[in-house]
Amino acid sequence: MHLYKPTAPGMATITKTEICTASKKAAGFVRHIEFDVSGTDLAGKCIPGQSIGVIPPGVDANGKPHKLRLYSLASPSAGEDGKGTILATTVKRTIDEHHDHHRLFLGVCSNYLCDLQPGDKIQITGPAGKKFVLPANAQDHDYVFFATGTGIAPFRGMIIDLLKENPAAKIALIMGSPYSSDLLYDGFFRELGRKHPNFRYLPAISREPNGTHGRLYVQDRLRTDSDVLMPMLAGPRTLVYICGIAGMELGILAQIATQLSGAEREQYLRTDPPAADVKTWDRSMLHKSIHLSRRIFMEVYS
Ligand code: NAP
Repeated sequence: MHLYKPTAPGMATITKTEICTASKKAAGFVRHIEFDVSGTDLAGKCIPGQSIGVIPPGVDANGKPHKLRLYSLASPSAGEDGKGTILATTVKRTIDEHHDHHRLFLGVCSNYLCDLQPGDKIQITGPAGKKFVLPANAQDHDYVFFATGTGIAPFRGMIIDLLKENPAAKIALIMGSPYSSDLLYDGFFRELGRKHPNFRYLPAISREPNGTHGRLYVQDRLRTDSDVLMPMLAGPRTLVYICGIAGMELGILAQIATQLSGAEREQYLRTDPPAADVKTWDRSMLHKSIHLSRRIFMEVYS
């Protein structure tokens, strides 16, 4: 961890940049960006679930050099090249409107990164993060991954690692997007699903019907695909990873609590007082009266 600090960042070279939404007509602009870290101490040292810091050039509104921004790695442990030297991340352009003077606001670092071309250099720090990674005994577990939007990044790398190193593990990926055109790495995950019978890819589209199911949030897949997901969750070896938009974690936990009971539910969470009605749950109760077990891993941001 922290092989490169902001005071002495490492230098990487962009090798590839491509749109990774299912359609170029998606409302947001999201890019899969690869960069070469060969010749730096980062080569072979970064694992999925960790982040890399990027320092954009220039100064902020106060004339101070920009601070670093963290981006989740999307690459597997062996990198995109199998040697740990080409890393990847998934970047959504931040495009918004200033609240007070309704002028266009472009996020500094996301737009800097998305504008870069192969051959361009970037200043990077890290890697950072040790809690949201696969366990050391990865072969002893099955995995249910819940992602929304760019929260998919760490799961791309983790799933590549798991399918390579633990061919017996059962893996389910539930991916939430507003429209099917917004799904990230959709073709890649569909192909993995065709190749690996132990991997299930379940998109959940929130603003379009999902076949006969209507509109879905990721947690709704626990109900619509309970035949696949509930036996996994009821079993003793499943880990749950949640990454993406803040708020999704409560819906997922409430749905787990609704569909599991007793010792099966307590594998993941317990409530204090024990009888707290799931319908009354809100986010302020997390970690206070809703206690999670070590089988749930969360990284959510608003
Ligand atoms: P997005 O494409 O807008 O997709 C978000 C999806 O989540 C939409 O389908 C949305 O549905 C749905 N959603 C909204 N509220 C929900 C809830 N309470 N429960 C379940 N689903 C819900 O996503 P995005 O713009 O890429 O944003 C992804 C978020 O992930 C960002 O906040 C980003 O900071 C975070 N992120 C975190 C990490 C990390 O922690 N390492 C890495 C990458 C990204 P509707 O909009 O239709 O309601």
